[in-house]
Amino acid sequence: MYYDPLELTEAVRKIVVRSNGEVELRKYYRFRGGRWYGGIATADSVGCNLRCKFCWSWRPRDNMSKYGRFYTPKEVYMKLVSIASRRGYKQLRVSGGEPTIGKKHLIQLLELLKETNYLFILETNGILLGAQRDFAKEISRFKNVHVRVSLKGCTPEEFAMLTGAKPEAFSLQLNALKNLVNYGVSVHPAVMLSFSTKENFELLVEKLREIDEELVEELEPEYVFLYPHVVKLLRKYGLKPRIAYSPDNIPEELI
Ligand code: SF4
Repeated sequence: MYYDPLELTEAVRKIVVRSNGEVELRKYYRFRGGRWYGGIATADSVGCNLRCKFCWSWRPRDNMSKYGRFYTPKEVYMKLVSIASRRGYKQLRVSGGEPTIGKKHLIQLLELLKETNYLFILETNGILLGAQRDFAKEISRFKNVHVRVSLKGCTPEEFAMLTGAKPEAFSLQLNALKNLVNYGVSVHPAVMLSFSTKENFELLVEKLREIDEELVEELEPEYVFLYPHVVKLLRKYGLKPRIAYSPDNIPEELI
């Protein structure tokens, strides 16, 4: 039985988002530096509105009450900037879960980062940016933001197979790209290709071309990294990747 990611968003929000007057707090379980994007400070949030069967952060995703604690946007800002300045990074991001759950919290964080020279990379599955045009419009106010929309497969059927969500929700991921392009936001798509056929990949390329030719040029392939806890999840669902990498042997071009 499929679930609706928008309904799941509301259920997750109740657990991982909290208000204190005008300030919105969000649950995070880790703050770290890392080599991705050539060096980036990362805040790992708790909670997602998809249930990908290859998710590397499935433990906090499925145990939201047990993991992390609530942080204000100011606290997240301070932690990210502190990591970045100590390590000489120019980029910051929120990863782990889905950062768009808790819209007000995210916007308050972006307001704080607006006056800095850091580039904020918004890594998202795009479900909410596809469902709410105004959300994409709001992101367009921030010139130091780049959005990476991570597509879960190449077609509605692959999306449903990989996430367990209803196939129609794949269009929200594509809509996110459309909305962001229309509002002039810096954006590129990534796509999980570990389980895809060549034919389905070609169908996706055509869909992206209909939105904007540049999305095709900037399409970033994503593959599963076989961390032991990811292998455990893949086995649970009987999913066999066509292409996957050992975490000790990740090709340079994927970092
Ligand atoms: S969208 Fe990302 S965080 Fe959410 S379930 Fe999928 S892989 Fe995990």
